[in-house]
Amino acid sequence: MGVTDQASIRLSFDASSCDGWGMCSLVFPEGISLDRWGFAHVTDEPVQGPLMRKARRAAACCPRQALTILEADPAPRAPWREPR
Ligand code: SF4
Repeated sequence: MGVTDQASIRLSFDASSCDGWGMCSLVFPEGISLDRWGFAHVTDEPVQGPLMRKARRAAACCPRQALTILEADPAPRAPWREPR
């Protein structure tokens, strides 16, 4: 099953807003790591399944609102065909 077959979200990260508190990494360690100064490094891969909830919680807990959830585009629709 490909990535586009499942619902997914992405995390947008504004590094200029990050203060390096590190709470996001505690909530979503699968997708967010911290550098040696505590600033976040965020995955740019789509987030799927149960990890979506963790990603949303990480974004919600950021005191600087440096993380934003990007909802995936809806699945492409089949081309419309003229009825015969
Ligand atoms: S919680 Fe927000 S401010 Fe803190 S490290 Fe994560 S992105 Fe940066």
